Amino acid sequence: MKRRDVLKNISLLPLAGGLAGTLVPAAKTVAAPIAKRDVFTELGLRTFINAAGTYTSMTASLMPDEVMEAINQASKEYVMLDEVQDKAGAKIAELCHAEAAMVTAGCWSAIVLGTAGVITGADPKKVGLLPNLEGTALKSEVIIQKSHSVGYDHAVTNTGAKLVIVETAEEAERAINDKTAMTWFLNKEVASGKIKHEEWLQISKKHNIPAMIDMAADVPPVENLWKYNDMGFDLVCISGGKAMCGPQSTGLLMGKKDLIAAARLNGPPGGGNIGRGMKVNKEEIIGMYVALDSYIKRDHAKEWKMWEGKIATINNAVKSITAVKTEIVIPPVANHTPSLEIRWDNSKIKLTKEEMGLKLRNGYPSIETVSWEKDNSIRVTVFMLKPGQEKVVASRIKEELLAASV
Ligand SMILES: *Cc1c(COP(=O)(O)O)cnc(C)c1O
Repeated sequence: MKRRDVLKNISLLPLAGGLAGTLVPAAKTVAAPIAKRDVFTELGLRTFINAAGTYTSMTASLMPDEVMEAINQASKEYVMLDEVQDKAGAKIAELCHAEAAMVTAGCWSAIVLGTAGVITGADPKKVGLLPNLEGTALKSEVIIQKSHSVGYDHAVTNTGAKLVIVETAEEAERAINDKTAMTWFLNKEVASGKIKHEEWLQISKKHNIPAMIDMAADVPPVENLWKYNDMGFDLVCISGGKAMCGPQSTGLLMGKKDLIAAARLNGPPGGGNIGRGMKVNKEEIIGMYVALDSYIKRDHAKEWKMWEGKIATINNAVKSITAVKTEIVIPPVANHTPSLEIRWDNSKIKLTKEEMGLKLRNGYPSIETVSWEKDNSIRVTVFMLKPGQEKVVASRIKEELLAASV
């Protein structure tokens, strides 16, 4: 949107508000019209076009009206929190081919509560012991591949569990002992690890050890919502506020009935556990359920085509500049959507990647792009854009490239 259009809209708001509720008032008796409260202006917050993706630091995704309506409706009545988890969990489990499911405070919390549940089972006394596993008879080791240990495994160790790092199938087998509680697999690192899903599951099942998978950002494709449940993982963790556009503070923990029940003992509404602070109320639980249901029902092929169209709009605008080269990149797992890498010849366009990122951020309207990894290039994604924003992104990037051309 152009600045003058914004100003035009702003100047229209009070007028519309003033006319709505009154019958032909004499001009001089009309109270100053009350403009609709704008929390962004009130707080002095920068809003921006999200051409980066579902980054937690950027508040990740926007909830569709359908989800907000469910949240609003949920906020108007009291219900028992456990009953909301029971009922929404049952629907979610059915949608995703799992025995049971619960809504958690993000994928991270799904990992913490799921791991805790594996360690404590249904015993409330054991629940109270976490995270102080030392000196107890509780199983305390979680097996993980070296290349899967990239930070998210801290959610596992939040429970007090220790990681046992392995690289080969032989090492994994040898690492299993009386203290082994669980095996943990990070889906997005499947290519970097020596052991793939099936073999990992085989080893886990052979020794009767529950296997958990973190697939936080791994829809699309939508089938991944049930793929790992079908494959036999005992616990599956995913973010609700990434591509599914549920509340940003939600995630799903899906899996075996007894393990989900145990995970729930480690979180609210009960206290005296490590998960009491990972609260999701009825609004988030119901909002997540509706977001999931709506995501599954979406026309995914049509959505993909729309993304390709938006990428083409940006691509066509910038590739007409001779010093610019572009490439469409689709990550195989995690944020599996088309993105566009835009590279420029630094002898013809005098701009570093940092300068470009800052010009887009500080320009009008503000635009965020993907972290600037390679020299003389930026990357944009389109799956978090609102309708029409691709045109703004295209023209702003082109504008900056031309302005820096020598
Ligand atoms: C985003 C992410 C998480 C954390 O998910 P939240 O929903 O933000 O709690 C965990 N693991 C991976 C691989 C992620 O990408």
